[in-house]
Amino acid sequence: MFDRGGTAKISECCRLTFKLDDNDLNDAKTPWKMRYSAMQNVTINLPRIAYEAHQDDEKLFRLLEEKIELVAQAHLQKKEFIGKLLGMGKFGPLALLTMNLDGEPYYRFNKASFLIGMVGLNELVQYHTGQQMHESKEATKFGLKVISVMKKHSEEIGKKYGLKMPLEQTPAESTAYRFAKLDMKYYPLQAPTVIRGNKGAGEIYYTNSTYLNVGAQISAIERVKAEGLFHPLVEAGALSHVWLGEHKPPAENLAAFVVKTFQNTQNSQIAFSPEFTSCLSCGKTARGLSDTCPYCHSPNVEGITRVTGFFSKTSGWNKGKLGELKERTRNIIS
Ligand SMILES: [Zn+2]
Repeated sequence: MFDRGGTAKISECCRLTFKLDDNDLNDAKTPWKMRYSAMQNVTINLPRIAYEAHQDDEKLFRLLEEKIELVAQAHLQKKEFIGKLLGMGKFGPLALLTMNLDGEPYYRFNKASFLIGMVGLNELVQYHTGQQMHESKEATKFGLKVISVMKKHSEEIGKKYGLKMPLEQTPAESTAYRFAKLDMKYYPLQAPTVIRGNKGAGEIYYTNSTYLNVGAQISAIERVKAEGLFHPLVEAGALSHVWLGEHKPPAENLAAFVVKTFQNTQNSQIAFSPEFTSCLSCGKTARGLSDTCPYCHSPNVEGITRVTGFFSKTSGWNKGKLGELKERTRNIIS
């Protein structure tokens, strides 16, 4: 993965980055003080807001604000609960986190972030405007408006309650599938019109966070550029995937792509994501996903690729992610 620099990877997931303020940079002079954390991510099901708004802008943005207030309430409950446990000091269940060896507790509770995530921006935009984000500039612009409003409300509401509530692209390994399943049940007229994947096979999902449709037939640089428009708004971690499939680009092409991305787009982080087939019979690994081993032709193989942020065996994926995998557009970096 490649990011712009000036950020620190400090959360529970390797790909998250946080913008650092002056106090944080001051902490860097005593690196052992750089103990930050994200307490929790609460994720908003964006398409559901669109279903309830019935193409009415005013209602859509009002519902969005209400959901952000709800997110803050959820965070406050957890903050209060964890605060009580920490308050029990060395006699409580979080004793280890309360040890004080440098003037403050090991767990710097006052530095914790309370993330607000999103799933299905693309489907919200599609239901509300009739177009997916990659299909027109107006659709992309509307998506940007939604995320800008989210950012504004999360800052204002966060301030009201004393919570640091930055936006995050929820990794959503299971949430993109869970939200889609729930909406097929509770919004049976609306959800099927925008939900992605294979409905007959139950392999359904929402497009993750602020991404474009993974199946959109666009070049890697177009994707990185369009998705990058959202990155400055998503302060707790934003990323674009470049799905490579079996393609193994020369190192100089990758280097040129990275330079082009950071010089010409607002994208803050890109991940090149190849796919592999690992043979359980002969033990060899080959590029690309295939049903049989290209070396010994055994059908006893495992597919390996990124589910979201990390690589894992596709046999362990939920049906939603498998549906997404089948629809991903693989790009060539030339
Ligand atoms: Zn083999």
